[in-house]
Amino acid sequence: MLTYTRCLCRMHNYFFKQSTRAYQIQKLYSKSKKSGGKRRMDGWLQCGKYGVFAWSISGLETCVVVKSDELLVAFDIGYAVRESVGCKHVFISHGHIDHVAGLPHHAAKRSLYSMSKAQYHVPTHLMEQMKSVAEGYKVMAETTEVLGQLNIIPLDDNATVWLPNGHLVKAFPTVHRVKSQGYLVYKEHKKLKPKFVGKPGHELAVLNKQGVDIHDITTVPELAYTGDTMMDLFLNPPTPDLLNVKVLITEATYIDNEPGKDMIQLARKRGHQHLAEIVQNADLFKNIQHIVLMHFSDKYSTEYIRTLTSVQLPPSLREKVLLATWAKERS
Ligand SMILES: [Zn+2]
Ligand SMILES: [Zn+2]
Repeated sequence: MLTYTRCLCRMHNYFFKQSTRAYQIQKLYSKSKKSGGKRRMDGWLQCGKYGVFAWSISGLETCVVVKSDELLVAFDIGYAVRESVGCKHVFISHGHIDHVAGLPHHAAKRSLYSMSKAQYHVPTHLMEQMKSVAEGYKVMAETTEVLGQLNIIPLDDNATVWLPNGHLVKAFPTVHRVKSQGYLVYKEHKKLKPKFVGKPGHELAVLNKQGVDIHDITTVPELAYTGDTMMDLFLNPPTPDLLNVKVLITEATYIDNEPGKDMIQLARKRGHQHLAEIVQNADLFKNIQHIVLMHFSDKYSTEYIRTLTSVQLPPSLREKVLLATWAKERS
């Protein structure tokens, strides 16, 4: 049997790091294709300027990666999909295993690729448990080399996290059968106050240095991720911003009707949404440009989901809904 031992001398370590980075970048983008003059990557859904990679099957795995030229972030880490490995910020919605199981694996993959430690933002009540799970993995591996000290950061609902390029993420409470929270991503825009427009740059620099507030700042709700939730969240939103984002990523765990069963009640009992509830409340989503539906039950095939949604969604929703079925197609 062929065995390989990695040399740890300075030179080989350097080349190992370079090659693993190159490998990672190549893998992340190797599936990209040119399609009709547009760049397309398998599994990615295009929502305006955002690419959304929504790997999600109810009860099994959910991990959603959002990226644009200025943003790269993951929501939930039920499975550390390759697309998530580059994400330095991961936001966890709740403690069900299909949303958290991949956290240590995500950290280990980043370590393998010589990436810096990610920040895992978790609902405050989960912090100690998540840390103890990570500790368990360290004990099993008999080394602290890979997982080290994980950056598991408690995040109350209504708390804010700043990300690069003027983005901020705010947590908000959702309605599930366990305590859970979703996330709103905002983009901050700075504009010169009208009274300073036309002033030379060096004068503005001086004013700025003197602490004069020369900008008007507006914060635009860009994107919302709900994780698992019931329709109650949208009927009674914690903030109007939730229904005014450009991109909404939410769930439709159940979509069918079984004879003799009230499927909406069944969905509600399990803390989820039924497609029929989204249809009934279509008007709530009128201001949203793109809606990604995810977390479909494993009992539905991709074809069944496509057919049923195309029949049941009204035109106003059909044109803006994208279906996260990639995990079903690849597994
Ligand atoms: Zn789930
Ligand atoms: Zn759940």
